[in-house]
Amino acid sequence: MAASRPVVPPRFAGDGTPTRPQLLQAPIRWPRPSLLDEPLTRLDGIGPKLAEAAAEAGVETIFDLLWRMPRAYGERPGQKLLGELEKGVEATVAVEVLRARRVPVRKRGFSVVEARVEDESGSIKAVWFNQPWIATALAPGLQVILEGRLETKGFTVSQMEVAGGGASRTGPPGLESVAPVSRHPGTEALRPARWRRWAWQACGMLGELVEPLPAELLARHGFPGSAAALKAAHFPEDEADADLALRRLAWEELLLHQVVIRRGRIQSRRRSKPAMKLDIEPELTEEWLDSLPFRLTGAQSNALAEIGADLAKEVPMRRLLMGEVGSGKTVVALWAMLRAVDAGGQAVLLAPTEVLAEQHAETMAKLLDGSGASFGLLTGSTPKAARLELLARLGDGRAGLVVGTHALLEPDVEFHRLALCVIDEEHRFGVRQKAKLNNKAPEGRSTHVLNMTATPIPRTLALTAYGDLDVTALRELPKGRKPIVTRVAGPGDRGKVFEAVRCELGAGRQAFVVCPLIEASETLEAKAATEEAERLRGGELSDFEVGLVHGRMTGEQKAVAMEAFADRRTDVLVATTVVEVGIDVPNATVIVVEGAERFGLSQLHQLRGRVGRGEHGGRCYLVSEAKGESARRRLSTLEKETDGFRLADVDLEMRGEGEISGTRQSGLPRFSVARLPEDAELLEVARADLEWMLARYGRLDAPELAPMADLAGRRFGPEGIRQS
Ligand code: ADP
Ligand code: MG
Repeated sequence: MAASRPVVPPRFAGDGTPTRPQLLQAPIRWPRPSLLDEPLTRLDGIGPKLAEAAAEAGVETIFDLLWRMPRAYGERPGQKLLGELEKGVEATVAVEVLRARRVPVRKRGFSVVEARVEDESGSIKAVWFNQPWIATALAPGLQVILEGRLETKGFTVSQMEVAGGGASRTGPPGLESVAPVSRHPGTEALRPARWRRWAWQACGMLGELVEPLPAELLARHGFPGSAAALKAAHFPEDEADADLALRRLAWEELLLHQVVIRRGRIQSRRRSKPAMKLDIEPELTEEWLDSLPFRLTGAQSNALAEIGADLAKEVPMRRLLMGEVGSGKTVVALWAMLRAVDAGGQAVLLAPTEVLAEQHAETMAKLLDGSGASFGLLTGSTPKAARLELLARLGDGRAGLVVGTHALLEPDVEFHRLALCVIDEEHRFGVRQKAKLNNKAPEGRSTHVLNMTATPIPRTLALTAYGDLDVTALRELPKGRKPIVTRVAGPGDRGKVFEAVRCELGAGRQAFVVCPLIEASETLEAKAATEEAERLRGGELSDFEVGLVHGRMTGEQKAVAMEAFADRRTDVLVATTVVEVGIDVPNATVIVVEGAERFGLSQLHQLRGRVGRGEHGGRCYLVSEAKGESARRRLSTLEKETDGFRLADVDLEMRGEGEISGTRQSGLPRFSVARLPEDAELLEVARADLEWMLARYGRLDAPELAPMADLAGRRFGPEGIRQS
């Protein structure tokens, strides 16, 4: 656990025996853990103004305050000499007191103590506010360690420790407590010392907290009770004490979150209208499978089995099919869609862009060739007459399969018997859009839903962000795929890189050039891509046709550019990340990614998946502008690692969950203590505990679990995450 949090070895050895907090046997005082609702103003010295400042930092109740954790243990802001101090920057100094005095101030209830302190680099005025007693403690010659920051009036002290002093570190905070083990972060309006004092007071109220989790579970894991853990997290005896407390609190968060997810699932299943049972003899699908020019991979067969079992039930399927580009998701989706048709229903595939919808249509046309099944394509560019014709055929059931974009969500698109929705790149659609599609099922019915994503998501994230879905992963690529040779290049290697590109182009192949990612500005990104295309046309690639596609183009412009590339009328496609997903041009064999350091590893992996889709294999050049060794080292992971799932894990570890492209960021819970993926093992423990509780108490709303159920709902919302 220690590795996951900024905990450094204790600087104060104590007697070396870590104390284990007592198991807390909280009296059951139900119905509610009152601290959840107590406003901060219940604390001494907090009026409406300070309460407001705290609310700005997201702390409104005593409970919020208790879950606002110290930022680190046993560590202090950078130690500096007085001569090195910078205005406004938190720092620690080791100084000797020369003299100290109380400064007379007229304002009532306000006091200032000043001391002249020095170290080898010079002397400075240190200032304490509202701590009048400190004046007597500051005897001349006293060696002290001060934390605070340099301001106009002098060095404003937030913490003081007497050098070599052995006073209690767990006593009340403020200046009389020296060398705290824990450090409470300040906020813009509120200094660390203030948060610390409040935390101390709040800990005094912990007797009112009801233990939310069954004592049996605590005992099994050797965890302290909730109150003891919160106390120890704020004011630990030592590092071991803090560690165990944080572990318990992280576990509590993960467990409560899993409870909410499970409850949401149980409820949504109970609530949802029945879906069409697709369990008849699968003639069409079986024949079709036999007709395919390849055999399914093991992962695909497994996916068919899982999906088939879902579809055979009236409980609507809610499944996520994860697999990187080329893993064969479309085949699996089409199989499911054909089952719907087999059973007399209809199926729809929704894609986020026109390009993708058209590509799906093409892939499906190929896959369905000779099977007799046909499908419609509906996008914003479908001509009016064709659209009306298709709507009529969908309305009376003559058309069984349809692929399209948002255009499918229009109210006048009606189905005869819609049984299954497949949603590609599902994170690009909102809850409402998905609901709109589902509402096209016959009256009183629900559709089965198969979500697809090409972004492999680590299991820990899938269990939290996607907890409302069952997950099927295609971890195996069809045989015969050649790995894509990947090389990291510095800015000085561009000449060589484009030499290699010209070589491929000369052999009749095609290339992608991806321009740097510019977060939050599609306009700048488009501009950069336009300039890059110009530059290449006039320079390195002047002998070739260079096309361009970026996010500021209209759907039609994009389609024209993509088609030109697909038909080999252009040799090179300069693009922003709009090409990231799903473009399939088998003749493209090289991809150059500029500014590669700005992308996540998963995203780069997706990008390189654009090439090497045909018989010729592929090459990927990652051009990094970063000077640092570390960026290069991160990128070089891609030279060796070809498994998208493992890369997603690495990404998650290095850049944090928010950075994994294609995850539902909004669906990720905000944990105060738990960290993923570091706490993956604890998450598994929590999941096992949830099963244990279900077995022991029969249901999550059993009276014995009431405190837990209530707290879970309050912390993570009634359903935890949004429903799909
Ligand atoms: P994805 O949608 O996951 O990117 P597709 O389903 O589009 O992947 O498959 C990519 C390509 O691989 C398609 O041309 C498809 O026909 C082919 N393919 C799919 N499954 C297999 C398989 N088991 N063996 C060989 N080729 C396959
Ligand atoms: Mg596909």
